[in-house]
Amino acid sequence: MDILLASGNRHKRDEIQAILAFARILTPPDLGIAFDHDETGDTFLDNALGKALHLHELSRMPVLADDSGLVVPSLGGAPGVLSARYGERPGGVPLSDRDRYELLLRQLDGIEERDAMFVCCMVYVASARRFAVVQETVEGEIAPAPVGKGGFGYDPVFYVPEEGCTVAEMSAQHKNAISHRGKALEKLKPVILAYCRPNR
Ligand code: IMP
Repeated sequence: MDILLASGNRHKRDEIQAILAFARILTPPDLGIAFDHDETGDTFLDNALGKALHLHELSRMPVLADDSGLVVPSLGGAPGVLSARYGERPGGVPLSDRDRYELLLRQLDGIEERDAMFVCCMVYVASARRFAVVQETVEGEIAPAPVGKGGFGYDPVFYVPEEGCTVAEMSAQHKNAISHRGKALEKLKPVILAYCRPNR
């Protein structure tokens, strides 16, 4: 089956494809669909559900949307839903992943409390009024300096104590086994398969 992902982030697409091996994960550009959704919600749930329903309306296909980000309680929950745009001025030039995590490290300079979590809200829309939502987290702390070359985004500065390394030091399989996105998708997988059966 084909599932359309409401994201142009190829890292997310690859992570999701590895877990949902029974499906082909497509993105809007793969189908020539121009898709742009303003993520103006206050929560990961608002943004994920908004994106998923919007893309379903445009495509009439089964849609998966992920809204995710990093939450640092000692920074009042920042970057939170603004993780992808952290440090940007409205209408300004997008920062690189590296600029964003370096800004985070500067903001945490001198702050002892470095607990953090990644959050992922994953929504599957089977049709306009039939959908499912799972939100998951992975707990960790912000490392003093970046380590590792894998993953994307804030992975080099996200240290997971139980694993003894940052997410950027993990293989793709290891990250998927412990990550916010991997955990949300594993829980959603049987629900997606159930939606493929006749509607009873
Ligand atoms: P979204 O496309 O609005 O969901 O943006 C999510 C942003 O949160 C990404 O651009 C990254 O900066 C960050 N993020 C989400 N998931 C991860 C992850 O697995 N690793 C590192 N950063 C992530």
